[in-house]
Amino acid sequence: MNKERKLIIAGNWKMNKTVAEALDLVRGLKIELAGVREADMVICPPYTALADVSKAILDSSLRLGAQNMSEHNFGAYTGEIAAGMLKEFLVRYVILGHSERRQFQKETNELVAKKARAAHAASLKPIICVGETLQEHEAGHTERVIEDHVRGSLHGVTAAQMADTILAYEPIWAIGTGKTATTAQAQEVHAFIRRLLAKLYDESVARHVRIQYGGSVKPGNARELMSQIDVDGALVGGASLDDRSFADIIKTSI
Ligand code: PEP
Repeated sequence: MNKERKLIIAGNWKMNKTVAEALDLVRGLKIELAGVREADMVICPPYTALADVSKAILDSSLRLGAQNMSEHNFGAYTGEIAAGMLKEFLVRYVILGHSERRQFQKETNELVAKKARAAHAASLKPIICVGETLQEHEAGHTERVIEDHVRGSLHGVTAAQMADTILAYEPIWAIGTGKTATTAQAQEVHAFIRRLLAKLYDESVARHVRIQYGGSVKPGNARELMSQIDVDGALVGGASLDDRSFADIIKTSI
């Protein structure tokens, strides 16, 4: 697929996969995706598998991401992981503000922005998630919520840093539910985010930032979603846990 921006497709494994299972999945992905260079391909295992997966993908085009990180660099923050610690495992991307963290850990836009600034300070590329609930969607508040998430979560992120920032539009009502936004719905919100980036930064930033879609992306719907002009990739949950389906999503999208 001929796109203005290089596709970036990331798999969020969430709290799944032991080390042995993670290595098994990576083995399959390396076979399925050998020679694929047309998209940036990122896998985000749980912290406990980062070290082993990092070594296992050294000879491949797969890149490593983490699912979260602390806004602090070090110190008395029990259970937290700092950006510098992720860098030890050659982690290059970090998912921030996923709706599950916003919901279960009560993460706010302000916290997500702090984490995004800390990620950039450590040269990690944040994948910042934004998205509305079903209730907000049905009440017609999608744009208002997305604007609030984008403005708040990018607070203090500079125009230069935006070149290494990825946004992920994930309508919460489509995550893990089997419901997908229609391609038209996805495109509309992505275009809205791009217009907002032009207002917050400038046209050049807006044109270059990659915006992923996330929410029940599967091999069967990936190509159509990726064909939309402002959809620059996917953040994949459930379907990234299987080598064949994650690889098929990538292969059908490029
Ligand atoms: C996600 O959690 O980021 C996600 C998109 O999940 P799923 O693909 O399972 O809907």
